[in-house]
Amino acid sequence: PVNFDSLEVGFDVPALPGMDATDIQTPCLVLDMDALERNIRKMGDYARAHGMRHRVHGKMHKSVDVAKLQEKLGGAVGVCCQKVSEAEVFARGGIKDILVSNQVRDAAKIDRLARLPKFGARTIVCVDDITNVADLSAAAVKHGTEIEVLIEIDCGAGRCGVTTTDVVIEIAKAVEAAPNLRFTGIQAYQGAMQHLDSFEARKEKLDIAIAQVKHAVDGLAAQGITCDLVSGGGTGSYYFESNSGVYNELQCGSYAFMDADYGRILDANGQRIDQGEWENAFFILTQVMSHAKADKAIVDAGLKAQSVDSGLPVVFGRKDVEYVKCSDEHGVVSDPDGVLKVGDKLRLVPGHCDPTANVHDWYVGVRGDKVEVLWPVSARGKAF
Ligand code: PLP
Ligand code: MN
Repeated sequence: PVNFDSLEVGFDVPALPGMDATDIQTPCLVLDMDALERNIRKMGDYARAHGMRHRVHGKMHKSVDVAKLQEKLGGAVGVCCQKVSEAEVFARGGIKDILVSNQVRDAAKIDRLARLPKFGARTIVCVDDITNVADLSAAAVKHGTEIEVLIEIDCGAGRCGVTTTDVVIEIAKAVEAAPNLRFTGIQAYQGAMQHLDSFEARKEKLDIAIAQVKHAVDGLAAQGITCDLVSGGGTGSYYFESNSGVYNELQCGSYAFMDADYGRILDANGQRIDQGEWENAFFILTQVMSHAKADKAIVDAGLKAQSVDSGLPVVFGRKDVEYVKCSDEHGVVSDPDGVLKVGDKLRLVPGHCDPTANVHDWYVGVRGDKVEVLWPVSARGKAF
């Protein structure tokens, strides 16, 4: 819990609950609480209506508070995350069902993974190599815990994961035979197609993935091995997994915040997904610090306030000005009509939400014109 009394706005924190939104120090992350709650409820309703579990991807926000809101309002069953250190933060924060949707191979990390159930968290990990099984088992035996295993299938992303049903069966049998491990099912996230603009292009990729996953699930069933979880799906694909008859768990992350790069992809009707399906709930609040040139405003959010791997941020709700360039500490906003002045604040929609959240300490949650909450980016920097 945060001791608000000991914090000084501007020194430790960008804002405090109860203050006017106009007094927030910049640059910082702002959450529009109304939009965030609507996104969370909407995805929760969708998952429920389709009989899907939703294990929200916590690597996106790295926040125990956001994950708990997703459990409360969106019926989320727990979280996924990519690193053991993130899983530790979520477990210590009280999340009870955690999937490290990744391979854990380093001996020290395997040992830490095996300790997670001691925090009261169901612990699940992905495996794509039979030689990983004995190491996971030994660590779980050592700590007297149980680790559940999903076999990861590479269903098109070309990253981790096995590619044949035979190998899935081989590893599943090894897991079933290993002490303190439990075979729980399949991990199959097609990450490479999520950002394809066209709905049809995404569907084509997911159809291939679904067929591949179904082949594996059927192959396991023929050996008498059942999958409790068949997990995958992101913001650009969840409707395909939900209607597949094969998957039973979603892993969407970005839907809750939205970002400029994801916002550009198109739904089944050819509409951008940030113009109806999801709302922008996540912003970098920035401020004009110089307007010495008539046609450009210099703002205080540069490279260190965001990730630009997926493109520059977009100024929210404005067509008259454009964020065109950034350096370490500065952003250049073209202002051809000279409408901005020093001190003006702008909301930027970051190009990519996940790595932008990771470079800040705090989320400032705003409702109306007031700061409602200040939430730590709990797993910020947890990359190990
Ligand atoms: N599942 C896995 C394994 C991921 O790596 C990611 C994100 O990259 C997601 C789910 C969440 O996807 P999205 O942010 O597209 O909803
Ligand atoms: Mn991402």
